[in-house]
Amino acid sequence: ETKPHIVLLGAGYAGMMTTKKLLQKLSAQDADITLVNKHNYHYQTTWLHEVAAGTIDVNRSRIMISDVIDSNRVHIIQDTVLKIDKDNKKVELSNSELTYDYLVISLGFEKASFGISGMDEHAFSIQDVNQSRLIRDHIEYQFAKYQNDVENRDESMLTIIVGGAGFTGIEFCGELAERIPELCKKYDIPRNQVRIINVEGMDSILPGFDPELAEYAEQSLRTRGIEFRLGTFIKEVKEGSIIVGEGEEIRAGTFIWTGGVQANRLVGEAGFELTKGKVNVDNTLRPAGYEDIFILGDCSWVLDKETAIPYPPTAQLAIQEADTCAHNIHTLIFGGTLQEFKYDNKGTVASLGGRDAMGTVFDGRKLYGIQAKVMKNVIDDRYLFMLGGPKLVLKKGKFRPF
Ligand code: FAD
Ligand code: NAD
Repeated sequence: ETKPHIVLLGAGYAGMMTTKKLLQKLSAQDADITLVNKHNYHYQTTWLHEVAAGTIDVNRSRIMISDVIDSNRVHIIQDTVLKIDKDNKKVELSNSELTYDYLVISLGFEKASFGISGMDEHAFSIQDVNQSRLIRDHIEYQFAKYQNDVENRDESMLTIIVGGAGFTGIEFCGELAERIPELCKKYDIPRNQVRIINVEGMDSILPGFDPELAEYAEQSLRTRGIEFRLGTFIKEVKEGSIIVGEGEEIRAGTFIWTGGVQANRLVGEAGFELTKGKVNVDNTLRPAGYEDIFILGDCSWVLDKETAIPYPPTAQLAIQEADTCAHNIHTLIFGGTLQEFKYDNKGTVASLGGRDAMGTVFDGRKLYGIQAKVMKNVIDDRYLFMLGGPKLVLKKGKFRPF
């Protein structure tokens, strides 16, 4: 008798944690497990704004998959998924094709451009390790170029625009506030020649989040030289400038779009039923009509049964979904009761660069400054601990608050 084949696509938070949980629940005799990922490393998506600003080294944010997943038990394939053929139970990769009995789709997010002209061509986005590294180097290159060619230099080379003041945009501005003074020193450029402008369509930053905490974040960032243009929608992106509001042009050497994310486009192309670009899944995390497919993390749209409000696309959610997914795959193989996913919101903490942060914790308490920063580091280290135990925390962790 052949063993069932479980294929997982994407080694982000959801894919890594589900693989870990499956290894705990299933023996080598129970099933074959294959994990497919674009790179041979897993990265901390939640640290990418730090990589993009250059406040942490790239290698700190990534972990070799084979360092934390037993490659004797899991067939790890480094390849790019091109197509999911759900009706023939096949997955097309760049270099091969796979068939599966159970499929876990955890391919994460990509930038949502909302049809804004020029966004795909001219905007950077904090999306993966390679893009983030490119942003870091592009910003530094603007400084070097500005200082190198005094005759042709243009002040706007030193302007950085961050489009969107959601959590990604705000956390990234916090890192820039730390990094830019260092670059100014390195390239002998006065800080006041550099502009960092956050452009947000709504009238406040972090729309929908606790207003007191948002106000705290805004003040912290303004004090450290971040300018805000609130109530200002970005309408078009051109090479070297953006168009906002009623046609005003703002020139900038760097434009980073943090205006929103959508599911990896492969899930839409596979023909699943979508809401806002994400696959509708039920509380067992499966799309209607496909009992052997689980869709996790930023690829799926899961409603809270009680409130009918979708859960926010966060790492916290992706990690929690892994438990339910692994349990349910075990159930499908061996029988038992399927588990319904229930999100346990542990709060939201955002870093603001350096020692500053703010957020809410599970009991609704608000944290500010160093206290929030310590909590943020605890959250990050907790994940590393779950993934790779104390060894990984020591190697990559943030146990030192500063
Ligand atoms: P991801 O973590 O995005 O992983 C997807 C994986 O799939 C990646 O490894 C990728 O390489 C791989 N992949 C993609 N396409 C292919 C392909 N075609 N073939 C093969 N492999 C592929 N959430 C929080 O809860 N707390 C935070 O503090 C927080 N901070 C954030 C900071 C930033 C800068 C950003 C951008 C997001 C942050 N988020 C945070 C949101 C969080 O990172 C996402 O919700 C989370 O990463 C989703 O996890 P995932 O497993 O669905 O996908
Ligand atoms: P988002 O959708 O939360 O925020 C996008 C922001 O861009 C919004 O404020 C929106 O009003 C603005 N915007 C959209 N179009 C615009 C336009 N044309 N012009 C100007 N502004 C525009 O996206 P995000 O910040 O990337 O967050 C994605 C997900 O990741 C969220 O669920 C978030 O909670 C999560 N996240 C969490 C943390 C954390 O917990 N610390 C950090 C980063 C991201």
